[in-house]
Amino acid sequence: MTRVFNFCAGPAALPTSVLERAQAELLDWQGRGLSVMEMSHRSDEFVSIAQQAEANLRTLLQIPANYKVLFMQGGASSQFAMVPLNLLGQGGTPNYIYSGIWAKKAMAEAKRYANQHVAASAEISQLTAMPSQADIQLSADAAYLHYTSNETIGGLRAPEVFQTPEQVPLVCDMSSDILSAPVDIEKFGIIYAGAQKNIGPAGLTLVIIRDDLLDQALEITPTMMQYKVMAENESMYNTPPTFAWYLAGLVFDWLLNDIGGLQVMAQINQRKAQKLYQAIDTSDFYTNPIQPAYRSIMNVPFQLADDALNARFLADAQEAGLLNLSGHRSVGGMRASIYNAVPETAVDALIDFMRDFEQRHA
Ligand SMILES: *Cc1c(COP(=O)(O)O)cnc(C)c1O
Repeated sequence: MTRVFNFCAGPAALPTSVLERAQAELLDWQGRGLSVMEMSHRSDEFVSIAQQAEANLRTLLQIPANYKVLFMQGGASSQFAMVPLNLLGQGGTPNYIYSGIWAKKAMAEAKRYANQHVAASAEISQLTAMPSQADIQLSADAAYLHYTSNETIGGLRAPEVFQTPEQVPLVCDMSSDILSAPVDIEKFGIIYAGAQKNIGPAGLTLVIIRDDLLDQALEITPTMMQYKVMAENESMYNTPPTFAWYLAGLVFDWLLNDIGGLQVMAQINQRKAQKLYQAIDTSDFYTNPIQPAYRSIMNVPFQLADDALNARFLADAQEAGLLNLSGHRSVGGMRASIYNAVPETAVDALIDFMRDFEQRHA
């Protein structure tokens, strides 16, 4: 069996050892004679799987006791609506930082429920730099400040966590960089992330929410979309995506026990990204438009000197076992997503391929 190097933006690569373990346990989970997929979500077996996953996540991110962890469905895109629905019950203006396509989608959803205020925008730099703390101007009645820590399509990231006054919770879409490095959970009111980038398979969405924010929902909020209902029911108000939850648990276990935690993971990720950006910057053939301080560690978009070579590049890459390097359909060019589960050897192979391709075509 050969496994390719997969640079997909999502659903993304999973650690091979995690898949092997899932395979070994697929028909018979720990001698119980059935698959995790076939278990009642209320069974002792599944509840132990769910609790272990949460415990490992709490250890990895050092999540304080006054934060709930919710294992939800609907993707990050549902969170775009759930954040305003759950936080605007006491009025106020939703505040947003505009940084690219994902931030824009979050903003579009919030507009359904209230007038919003753009507290800062990356538009000034033409999306090549995140706004800085000094650029942020909150509205007087800000209900919360939302930002996107890593713009998966643009390859733009916020190098620092933004600060807000105590009464204004910070809300962050961390879909594409959660668990890539340690983060200080206490600076946030809500963190959410679709699982299919850096957590596990598609179908699961993680929400980390401070206790005091559970009870501020608009009346109209559907039951399934209320954080409070999910928290009170241990994310099992209805049938959760059990197999995705289990696999996420295996990934948390891998991060904790095989990798050695998020400090180590962050160093590996830094090294991977640095190499790739260096290969791009030292060539006359490849370019990346983002200002260095704001370059994503997870998603590295790049353009070839001649767009006419794009199809050739992708075909040759595929031939070399390097998959899913095509840029997002809205921006074109190339993009290498180098999430946690993409090994350093994959990045090395990509760099070798890029050098070789340049020599043949530049
Ligand atoms: C992928 C992604 C989303 C959308 O996630 P879904 O789970 O497909 O809804 C939202 N925000 C960011 C930053 C993403 O990378």
